[in-house]
Amino acid sequence: PNSIGSRLTDGLNPQQREAVEYRGQALLIVAGAGSGKTRVLTHRIASLIESREAWPSQILAITFTNKAAAEMRERVEALLGEGASGMWISTFHSACVRILRREAESLGLSSTFTIYDSADQRTILKRIIKELDADTMGFTPASAQAKISKLKNELADVETFARNANMNDPQEVMFLEIFRQYTRRLRDASALDFDDLIAETVYLFRAFPKVAALYQRRFRHILVDEYQDTNHAQYSLIRELTRPVAREIVDELDAHGILVRGIADDSGAIPGASLTVVGDSDQSIYAFRGADIRNISEFERDFTGAKVVLLEQNYRSTQNILSAANAVISNNFDRKDKKLWTADGDGDPIIGYTGYTAHDEAQFVADEIESLHRAGVAYRDIAVFYRTNAQTRALEEIFVRSALPYRVVGGTKFYERAEIKDAMAYLIAVANPLDELALRRILNTPKRGIGPATETALASFAEQNELSFREAMRAADGLGLGPKVTSAITTLATVLDEAAAMLVPSAEGMAAGTNQGASKVSDVLVFLVERSGLLETLRNSRDPQDETRAENVEELVAQTRDFDRENPGATLVDFLTQVSLVAAADEIDDASGTVSLMTLHTAKGLEYHAVFLTGLEEGLLPHQMSASEPGGPAEERRLFYVGITRARKKLHLSLAMSRAQFGEVAVAMPSRYLQEIPEGLIDWRQSPGMATSRGGTQPRALNARRPGGAWGTRDRDLERFSVTRSEKPKTEWANRVTGNVRDNGDLTLEAGDRIRHSDFGEGKVTQVTGEGTKRIAHVSFDTAGQKKLLIKIAPIEKL
Ligand code: ATP
Ligand code: MG
Repeated sequence: PNSIGSRLTDGLNPQQREAVEYRGQALLIVAGAGSGKTRVLTHRIASLIESREAWPSQILAITFTNKAAAEMRERVEALLGEGASGMWISTFHSACVRILRREAESLGLSSTFTIYDSADQRTILKRIIKELDADTMGFTPASAQAKISKLKNELADVETFARNANMNDPQEVMFLEIFRQYTRRLRDASALDFDDLIAETVYLFRAFPKVAALYQRRFRHILVDEYQDTNHAQYSLIRELTRPVAREIVDELDAHGILVRGIADDSGAIPGASLTVVGDSDQSIYAFRGADIRNISEFERDFTGAKVVLLEQNYRSTQNILSAANAVISNNFDRKDKKLWTADGDGDPIIGYTGYTAHDEAQFVADEIESLHRAGVAYRDIAVFYRTNAQTRALEEIFVRSALPYRVVGGTKFYERAEIKDAMAYLIAVANPLDELALRRILNTPKRGIGPATETALASFAEQNELSFREAMRAADGLGLGPKVTSAITTLATVLDEAAAMLVPSAEGMAAGTNQGASKVSDVLVFLVERSGLLETLRNSRDPQDETRAENVEELVAQTRDFDRENPGATLVDFLTQVSLVAAADEIDDASGTVSLMTLHTAKGLEYHAVFLTGLEEGLLPHQMSASEPGGPAEERRLFYVGITRARKKLHLSLAMSRAQFGEVAVAMPSRYLQEIPEGLIDWRQSPGMATSRGGTQPRALNARRPGGAWGTRDRDLERFSVTRSEKPKTEWANRVTGNVRDNGDLTLEAGDRIRHSDFGEGKVTQVTGEGTKRIAHVSFDTAGQKKLLIKIAPIEKL
C-alpha cells in the first residue's frame, strides 16, 4: 500500500499531499486559482478508494458542471487504473434529481416529474400574472421569477413567506398570491423548477429522517469543489447529508432489515460523513444566484474541529499573469490576503490592445490567434472571454471573415429552439401525463384546429371535475365541442397513450426491475414526431425556415439515437433529465479543433494556453447593472480575476474605444480594473489606426498613465471606501484617459466635406447624424467603402 499511496501523492507539494492524506471529519482547502484544488480533490477520492477506506459507492463528489464531473470521474479511474462504478460524481442538481426520482413517493411526487427550465417558469408566471391582473402592479414574469428563485435559494417556501409577509402591503399580498399559485401549478403538474431540485431534497431529508438516514449512511465521504459558489440551500443540503444517524433510527431501520450495522459506533449511532470542501473566495461570482461566500469563511465554525489547508503555489500560469491577478484582486477589501506564485518563471508579458471599434478589437484578436496558431498553438487551446453575450457579434463577424474555426459555448441554445421544445414537449407529455404545460404546448402544434377557446374549455373542465388536463383530453367527447375539434383532441390523446405503451417494459423486465422490453427513446420520438404530424408539417411548409426546423427535429432524433447507444437500458426520463441539466460549460468539446468563445461566468474552473479578455470597458466590466449595486464592483473584479487566471502562458487584454451598445455608438471608457495592473506587466500595443494618426507608440487610451507613474496617484483609503460603497467609476480619470486620446470635439463636419482617415484614407462625408459627443459622420471612402465614424474620437482630419 505504500507504493500505491506514493503513486497518488507523487508530484504533489507538501500542502497538497497533506490535503490528500488527511483523515478527519472536516477538511477545508482554501486556495487561489490554479493551485491544484480540483486536482487534490481528485487524488483524495482515489486515495480513499485505493486504501480501502471507502468503497466507490460511499463517495459523493460535487462539481460545478456535468463536464467537470465527467472529467473528475475519468481521472479518478485513471489514477486507480480501473473503473470505480458506484461513485456519485455530479453537480448538486444532478445528485438531487437522482435522489428525488428515487424518493418521489415520500414527497407525493411522480418519479417521472418534469424539470422546468427558466422559459417554462416564465410561461407559467405569465399566465398567473395575467389572470391576477398583477401586471398593473408592476409584476413581470422575470421579476416574479427572480423573487421566487431568491426565496427558494433561502429555503423559504410559500408558508414561510406568508408568515413573514406584510399583509398591509398590497405588493406583498399580490406576490404571495403569485407564489402560491405558481407552487400549486407545479405541484399539480408534478414538476419542479431548478431551485426546487435542491430545496425539495433538503425538505425531504428534514421531513423524513429515515429516508435521510439511507443517504447519510451511504455517503461516508462528501467532497465539494467550487464551494465558494454554494448558496444557502446547497449548504443546507450538505449539512443534512453529513449529519450522524441517531441510534433510534438505526435500530428502527435495522428492524426492517434496511441498514447494516457495520458502520455504527459503540453507541449504536452512525457518525456523520466526512466532508471536504475546496474553494476560493476570490472566485465567487454567483452572488446573483444566491451564492454566499460566508459558507467558506464560516466553515470552521459550522464544522467544528475542521482542518484547514492553504495552497499558494500555482501550477497553471506564468508569474506575470499571476502578478496581474494578485494586484487586481488585492483591491477587493474584506478578504484574506493571499499571493499566488509559480516556480515556472515570469513568462511573456501580457499583451494589451486598444481598438478603435469593437471590430478593430476583434480583428486584433483574430490576428493574434492566427499568429499563435502558426506558432503551433492548437485552436482548442485558445479561448476568448467576454462579459455579455452581445459582444460575440463583432467577434463572430471577423472570425468568419478570417475563416477562423470557433465555437460559441452556450450560444447554440439548441434545446431552446421552438421546434425542439415542441418535440421535447411530446416526450415530456408521455413521460409525465400530469404536465399540463407540455400538453398545452402540443395541443395545437402542429396546427390541428384547436383554438384558445377550446384550450380554456379543457382547462376549466379539468379544474371543475378535478381531472388532469390529460384526462380532460381523453374525455373530450363529452364536452360538446365540434366533431372536428373533438376528434383532433382524442386523436392526439391516443397518440400519446400509444407512445406511453411503448415505454412499458416486458414482463421479464418488470420482474427484474429493468427497462428491458421497452422501446428506445429514439423510437418513441420518431413515433411521436411522425404520428403527430409535427415533422410532416415542417417538411411540407413553404416557409424556408421550416426546412431548417425539420432538420433540427431530425438532429434531435439523431441525438436520442446516440443517447440510446451510449446508455443501454436508460429510460425516457433519463434522457429528459440529461437534457434538462446541461449547462453552458458542458458543451465545450475539447476534441474539436476550435477556438472557444464564452462568457466569463462560463470560464470558471477551465484553463487555456492562451486567453483573450475582451471588452475591458466601463459599463461592460464592471457591467453597468452591477456598477451601482453594493458589492457589485467587487464581484465584477472577481470575475476579471477568474478570467485572468484561466490563462496558462499568454494573456491578452483588449478594449474598444467606441462600441455600439443598445443601438447607439458610444465612447467607451477603459475598465477601472485595467489601471490596477502594475505598469510593466502589460505590453500595450496600439490600434494600427491610432499609430499612424498620432505617430506615437503609446496606446492612446492609456496615454494618461504616463508620465505620472502608475495611473497617477491613488488614494488607498478612498479606494477602499469606494469598494464598499458603490465604487463609482473614476470618471475624472477615465475622462482624462479618453479625453487625451483624441478629441475632435469642435471639428465641424457636414455633408460634402472631404476628410482623411488614418486607416481608410480619403473619403467624402455623405451625412452627419447625432448630437454633441455622439455625432457620427457617414463617410464614403475612396477605396475603403462606406463607414460610420464617431467624430469626437475618430482619427480623421478635414481636408
Ligand atoms: P481553479 O481555482 O481555477 O479551479 P484549481 O485550484 O482547481 O484551479 P487545478 O485545476 O486543480 O487548480 O490545477 C491547475 C493546473 O495545475 C492543472 O493543470 C493541474 O493539473 C496542475 N497542477 C496542480 N497541482 C500540480 C502539481 N503538484 N504538479 C503539477 N501540476 C499540478
Ligand atoms: Mg478547480
